[in-house]
Amino acid sequence: MKTPKYLLPKLPYAIDALAPVISQETINYHYGKHEQTYIDNLNKMIEGTEYADMELEDIIRSSEGPLFNNASQAWNHIFYFFSFSPEAPKEPEGRLREAIDSQFGSFDNFKKEFVDAGVKLFGSGWVWLASDVDGKLMILQKSNAGTPLTDGLVPLLTFDVWEHAYYLDYQNRRAEALDKLWDIVDWDVVSERYDTTD
Ligand code: MN
Repeated sequence: MKTPKYLLPKLPYAIDALAPVISQETINYHYGKHEQTYIDNLNKMIEGTEYADMELEDIIRSSEGPLFNNASQAWNHIFYFFSFSPEAPKEPEGRLREAIDSQFGSFDNFKKEFVDAGVKLFGSGWVWLASDVDGKLMILQKSNAGTPLTDGLVPLLTFDVWEHAYYLDYQNRRAEALDKLWDIVDWDVVSERYDTTD
C-alpha cells in the first residue's frame, strides 16, 4: 500500500501534559481519533487528483465541499494543538504584546473579547486571532471548518469550539473550557507566527 501523503504529526508534549486543562482522554479522542479521521479522509480524497502534489494551504484555498472541510480541519487541528505547551510564557511579549495592547486596550480585554467571540459562535467552529500582512490584528468567528487562510490573513491563534473539543472535560461549559486554555497557550509560538507579518 502507498504511504499516505499526510501523517498525524507527533505532539511536542506528552499526552497527559496539558491536564487538567485538556485531559489525556480528550487528546486521545480529539487528536488521536477526530484529527486522524480528517487526515485519512484528506489522503483518500486527493489521491490521484490535481490536489495530490499541492501544499495543504493551497488545497484549502482552492477547494470546497468535503475536500475543503477535511483539508481545513486537518490543518486547523495541527495549528490548534501546536499552540499549546505546559511550560510556556503566560503572556505575550514584545511586538505582539504591543499590538494587542494598542488594538484591544489590554491583554485582559483581548482575552475577554476572544472568549466572548468563541462563546457566541453558534454551533461548531473556531475562534481565531489573525493578522493582515501589515500586522493589524482581528478576532474572527468561523463556522465548521472555517479558516482565515481563505481571507488572505495570517492565522495566529485558534480555539476549537466544536463540542468534541471540550465535552469530555467540561460538558456544556464552553466559556469555562475556553477560558482555561489561556493557561496553556504558548505565546512564543504565537509571536513567531506574528513575526511573519510587517
Ligand atoms: Mn476539533
